[in-house]
Amino acid sequence: MDGHMNRRELIRLLSVAGLGTLIASSVRADAPAAVADSPGFMGRLIDPTGGPRAPAGIVGGKVIQPERQLPIMHQTDVLVVGGGTAGVMAAVAAKRAGVNVAIVERYGYFGGLWTGGMVLLVIGTHVKENGEKKKVVCGLGDELLERLTKYDGAIINQKPGAHNPTVDPEATKFMMDEMVREAGVNVFFHCWGADAVMDSKTIRGIVFESKAGRQAILAKVVIDTTGDGDIFAAAGAEYEQRTYAIGTVHRLGNMDRTDKEKAKEAGAKLPPLGAATPLPSVRWVNTRGPKANGLDIAELSRLEMEHRRNIWNQAQQMRKTPGYEGAFLVDTAPQLGVRITRVLQGVYKLTYKESREAKKFPDTVAVGGAEGAQHAGWPIPYGVLVPKEIDNLLTAGRCISADEKLLDDTRLIAACMTTGHAAGAAAAVAVQSNCRPRDIEIPRLQKLLKEQGAYLG
Ligand SMILES: Cc1cc2nc3c(=O)[nH]c(=O)nc-3n(C[C@H](O)[C@H](O)[C@H](O)COP(=O)(O)OP(=O)(O)OC[C@H]3O[C@@H](n4cnc5c(N)ncnc54)[C@H](O)[C@@H]3O)c2cc1C
Repeated sequence: MDGHMNRRELIRLLSVAGLGTLIASSVRADAPAAVADSPGFMGRLIDPTGGPRAPAGIVGGKVIQPERQLPIMHQTDVLVVGGGTAGVMAAVAAKRAGVNVAIVERYGYFGGLWTGGMVLLVIGTHVKENGEKKKVVCGLGDELLERLTKYDGAIINQKPGAHNPTVDPEATKFMMDEMVREAGVNVFFHCWGADAVMDSKTIRGIVFESKAGRQAILAKVVIDTTGDGDIFAAAGAEYEQRTYAIGTVHRLGNMDRTDKEKAKEAGAKLPPLGAATPLPSVRWVNTRGPKANGLDIAELSRLEMEHRRNIWNQAQQMRKTPGYEGAFLVDTAPQLGVRITRVLQGVYKLTYKESREAKKFPDTVAVGGAEGAQHAGWPIPYGVLVPKEIDNLLTAGRCISADEKLLDDTRLIAACMTTGHAAGAAAAVAVQSNCRPRDIEIPRLQKLLKEQGAYLG
């Protein structure tokens, strides 16, 4: 074996280690023989979930929610809200640095737009330095990508000399679970961060909604990695809000069995072919869509349905093209492709000009990549993660403080990995130094980041 394992080899290995039966027995296909009157078909009766309710009422024509005490579900050192790329990096970085960490995610899996949005291509992993290609996603992000190379069908273009790998979304969800679990982060899926718990200008935790009702989690430092700045907005931080192109990524199957020549001979227009994925027969199709407000639920609902209809119709059309009769639509991404909404106004706002001049900063905590590894890396200062006024709050990912032109670079998955890593490490340093994140010793943060493998230039 050359270090790479296919799925069958992996299962054989796990069986030898005695873990095969565990896996086989914890999830198994539904048994068709199960019938309502067979013993054990139903679960047992349990107490109703959730504490006493205080429903809203109508008072003088207004909807009023009565004042009520919220259960504190959990208390921690660092609370990460949003389990996308940036959130997972932040949570693992903080926990590995030795503080207690919890992560809250509205869906049932990690990865956000990367996995649920099926944006599979990690752009910006490398830059050009002294005429050579140089990797800037090191540390946790690179560890995740490297770990995917051990599995068959999990990643392409992560080999030495390559850049911008493409991942399989299921493999990536699995690997994020593994890294979070191994680190010992407390995970709360199916929880929607709804409000900030404030003590004047200092955040003390969040209020979240779940099937169990409205509850709170308290923390010494909160990291907003919702991508949309839901928590920094609720906390009263300064931000800009933008419209941006909203698309729906989808995947096409049987694409290795198409016949371009047959289509050309028939004079047919070639359908959109999408880009390669680690699964040979599957290609992913990125779409832009109209510029819209990604926080407007009526607009989001309209776009979900309109995009799905267009994609369905295109797929049907594709199947009528000679040579493409066997191709099919595998799936549309479960998460709509919202690229940019709220953008923090941090203590520092990084500009596109500064990035292209590769301006150096004393508080550099990450280095941004180049789309095609064609230009130099751009140092990212800590100040872009820190709100101007609100304390004990950091952000990372696609909503960090940058000017309009740079947002197309700061939102790339590679940059979300490195800014997430930086925010998690910074939160840990703040907790361990017993100070506000804005007051931490930058050399101490940079030392920790380097110990965790990060590249700071
Ligand atoms: C259509 C499209 C194509 C793109 N193409 C590329 C590409 O080819 N290559 C590339 O590198 N980048 C691409 N990008 C950009 C990139 O995918 C994203 O910017 C990046 O994945 C964002 O990561 P994030 O962690 O900052 O945010 P997100 O991935 O948005 O993660 C935020 C997480 O927080 C959760 N969340 C949100 N609100 C709450 C809440 N209130 N409470 C609890 N949880 C919450 C979400 O469910 C999600 O898991 C593309 C983006 C889109 C939309």
